[in-house]
Amino acid sequence: MPAFIDLTGYKFGSLTALKRVPAPIGVRDHTRWLCRCACGQEQCFRAHTLRGGNVTRCRKCTVAARTTHGASYEPRYRMLMQAKARAKKNGLPFNIKLCDIAIPEVCPLLGIPLAFGNTRLSPNNPSLDRIIPALGYVKGNIWVISWRANTIKNNASIEELARIVRNLKRAIIGAASRPAASSEQLQLVLGKHEERRKQHNWRLDRRRDGKRVNTYLHPERINAP
Ligand SMILES: [Zn+2]
Repeated sequence: MPAFIDLTGYKFGSLTALKRVPAPIGVRDHTRWLCRCACGQEQCFRAHTLRGGNVTRCRKCTVAARTTHGASYEPRYRMLMQAKARAKKNGLPFNIKLCDIAIPEVCPLLGIPLAFGNTRLSPNNPSLDRIIPALGYVKGNIWVISWRANTIKNNASIEELARIVRNLKRAIIGAASRPAASSEQLQLVLGKHEERRKQHNWRLDRRRDGKRVNTYLHPERINAP
């Protein structure tokens, strides 16, 4: 049996050994030492890890030393990193920081609530947008809007959007004044459109998973033989 080494009062980095703590009765284990960290936290460590230089801090301080900003899992951080990548790829100016990104409760363009859904392309997903696209991701030129609003806006200028609204209005009024299609014809067209949309979403879901999931069935095929 190795000789007992008294570590009381010894310092191991930020840790100071206070007293020996015996292993619980019936458990064969190494000697543990109760240590006090520089932060005030008290924690037990095995003697050989202390003497080997493997630990120099309490667990809390170890995690704190390893953490750079603690925001890696925040959605805003992901937005920031993706924006940075886009800026680099497209040669756009970029000088925003995490604190510049604020996610409001509702989309400032559409007024719909902003929330992260299960699917990446959910219309309510918050998405970072450049107010004037050409200026890039710079302070004062970014805001968070819904994915829906962002896809509609895309990189359109206000003049282009106004022109679309004007011409679309004119087209709708023109179509309404023409003799209406029979309701059967209308149903047929709408039904085809809906079917295509469902199939499109279904394909998106499958692609997002990266592999085919056997349990997932197209809504129309659930009752199929
Ligand atoms: Zn500590």
